[in-house]
Amino acid sequence: MKKILLTLTLISIFACQAFALEIVKPSNKSSVVYTESAHIYGTVKPESTLHINSQKVKVWKDFFVHSVPLKMGKNKIKIVETQKNGAKKTKVITIKRMEEPKEEIQPFIAKEPHTIWTAKIIRDYTPIREKASDNSNRVIDLPKGIVLYLSGKQGNYYKIEETGETEFWIRKDYISTPTPTNSRMPITISAPHKSQDSLYNYTKFAITYPVLYTIKQNGKTLNLTLYGVYGGPEAQKRNLEYTYNSKDTILGYDGIYSNGNFIFKTAKTPIIKNPNKPLEGLRIFIDAGHGGRDTGAVGPTKIPEKKFNLAIALKLIDLLQREEGAIVSYSRNTDVFVDLYERVNLAKQNEALISVSIHNNSLPQGVDPYVKHGTGTYYYNYNAKNEALIIKNNLVNDLKLKDDGLNYKSLVLDRATDPVSSLIEVAYLTYPQEYMLLQDEKFQMEAADSIRKSLREFILSLQTEK
Ligand SMILES: [Zn+2]
Repeated sequence: MKKILLTLTLISIFACQAFALEIVKPSNKSSVVYTESAHIYGTVKPESTLHINSQKVKVWKDFFVHSVPLKMGKNKIKIVETQKNGAKKTKVITIKRMEEPKEEIQPFIAKEPHTIWTAKIIRDYTPIREKASDNSNRVIDLPKGIVLYLSGKQGNYYKIEETGETEFWIRKDYISTPTPTNSRMPITISAPHKSQDSLYNYTKFAITYPVLYTIKQNGKTLNLTLYGVYGGPEAQKRNLEYTYNSKDTILGYDGIYSNGNFIFKTAKTPIIKNPNKPLEGLRIFIDAGHGGRDTGAVGPTKIPEKKFNLAIALKLIDLLQREEGAIVSYSRNTDVFVDLYERVNLAKQNEALISVSIHNNSLPQGVDPYVKHGTGTYYYNYNAKNEALIIKNNLVNDLKLKDDGLNYKSLVLDRATDPVSSLIEVAYLTYPQEYMLLQDEKFQMEAADSIRKSLREFILSLQTEK
């Protein structure tokens, strides 16, 4: 019996080494997509030849990346590895292509006239949207505790009564159960009171209870609106409008409710004492994307994105602390899971002026990995646009990668208005050459150094424009 077990073990070890073909993406033997093509990648035994649906496919060292067209319905894909010694290994996967389901439009149900529905926001970073859909534009993310008055319902969304030119909608799961009441709670708001510390300017309003607000940036101006604070019957008179004009570039800004006050804060332009060390004493937050059970994308040979993100982030943190004298805070410096909003909280608690989130990219199905690749940056708020552009341009030049653009996209780590927040996708795990570069420590160092250089440039640009 023992002998048989030993023989079996030996055979299985041998088998593992002899047949290296493994499909990493798609991760299931049968998967469903809505796209005209799908890419497949995985490991192969070095020096093998590979055929996918009888077409010869390039083998990169010990892996392959290939895109196949899909017809509607079931697509059987046959992958055959022929090893140097002639041995063959075959895998068959099924990809089902379907029509993308359409979002159903629900009817609008208005509340009864002369009744008032009220509810409270129950979660921090709750999005207020322009339409009753998860795909609609965000107006602002609001903290819990804000009192809302609602005028109707559509699908999973409630419409907020206080509106200017745009409509405001909120998902029902982010608010307490709306209750009908007889009247609005009385409210008063004080005149603005200004103060400052070394990092921020503050404008404070004492207010009876937290209400909906929006802050919009227009160049060097911020427009704050607090809704429904005057209690009168005519909607247009009820809102408080406050304009903040800056002579400098607008950096981080935020609205906060604290101890019966609404506090509007704006970050001060840093004063550079030593032009050779523009980041000295500056507060910078570095986020290494994903971590722990959240692997991020997984490359053709199963190296997870989280590993590359951390490697680049650690090098950047070190450069900023040791060579630039910056005060660096970070979301993680080991392989641990950190919630997305916890990362934003950490950046805010550390009063960072800039937050940079480091990721590496992969593609959704339907896009050819040999066509879309390179380095790109992401911003959501106007105050991060220039910084994200500088970072992207330098990465393209320094790493000699394809330009994957300065992208406007709503992501948790680029959505905060304070700190100035951007997200970097250094390279693609789905593009063979970039995947191999990411494994090279010299490349990781060059990426970190390029980002450091960009942060210096961004801070110096704030000074020269005066
Ligand atoms: Zn990522």
